[in-house]
Amino acid sequence: MLKGKVAIVTGSTSGIGLGIAKELARLGADLVLNGFGDAGEIETIRSGIEREHGHRVAYDGADMSKSDAVRGLIAATVEKFGRLDILVNNAGIQFTAPVEEFPIAKWNAILEINLSAAFHAIAAALPRMKEQHWGRIVNIASTHGLVASTHKAAYVAAKHGLVGLTKVVGLETAGSGVTCNAVCPGWVRTPLVEKQISDIAAQRGKNQKEAAKELLAEKQPSLDFVSPSQLGGTVAFLCSPAADQITGTTISVDGGWTAQ
Ligand code: NAD
Repeated sequence: MLKGKVAIVTGSTSGIGLGIAKELARLGADLVLNGFGDAGEIETIRSGIEREHGHRVAYDGADMSKSDAVRGLIAATVEKFGRLDILVNNAGIQFTAPVEEFPIAKWNAILEINLSAAFHAIAAALPRMKEQHWGRIVNIASTHGLVASTHKAAYVAAKHGLVGLTKVVGLETAGSGVTCNAVCPGWVRTPLVEKQISDIAAQRGKNQKEAAKELLAEKQPSLDFVSPSQLGGTVAFLCSPAADQITGTTISVDGGWTAQ
């Protein structure tokens, strides 16, 4: 389905981004991986996807907290592959604290990586996508782009902002062949959530299994985690012809969280 297309997935060395990258490669896209981590492990991931699917897979370690690096990632991809069709803005970080204690540096970092990076990447990618009369921009937001939780001021603000940005870009590109949508996952068991499970375990004297159950029970009625590969499937759907008229909106993949 995606043969000949070129996709960038930011923050794809781990978790959800890696699940999305693998699904896009499975469907035939050439890939640019991005994110932090051990150089050897990243190379194992990169070469593994390339071997399994037989497409070109590149890695670019651009830091999504730096506007020039984000725009540079787009430019380098177009330079290397000659085109850009799919942009998945996924890189993200979390930090939790009451608003009056929230460290300024953490607020700034979350806004930069979880929101501003998507703005810079979209701004840099759009001219090329419009020229090609086809493009798919998928922003990985969160249930926290639609509803709030305590102690997540920066994350909730950034994700609500990302949903707003999605709507504007959807409107500005309507009819151009480019679509822009946000995916809003509930709990996914990745390193980002593992830390929150450990915090619950430590605070309430539980083991990891009990703490994970409590985390789910508080928010996610299905009582099951969403998987990175299910989110890969959601992004693939948004890249399919069935989704040509879906733009400027959100798709929740949250086990019923935001239905409450
Ligand atoms: P993760 O920690 O497993 O992965 C985050 C990725 O972002 C990693 O590849 C990391 O290296 C990369 N990254 C972090 N800072 C970066 C930077 N400055 N520059 C480049 N890359 C950077 O987390 P995840 O759970 O897979 O989260 C991915 C996205 O999904 C995030 O935007 C997160 O907010 C969102 N999300 C996660 C959940 C969940 O339950 N895990 C739920 C909803 C939304």
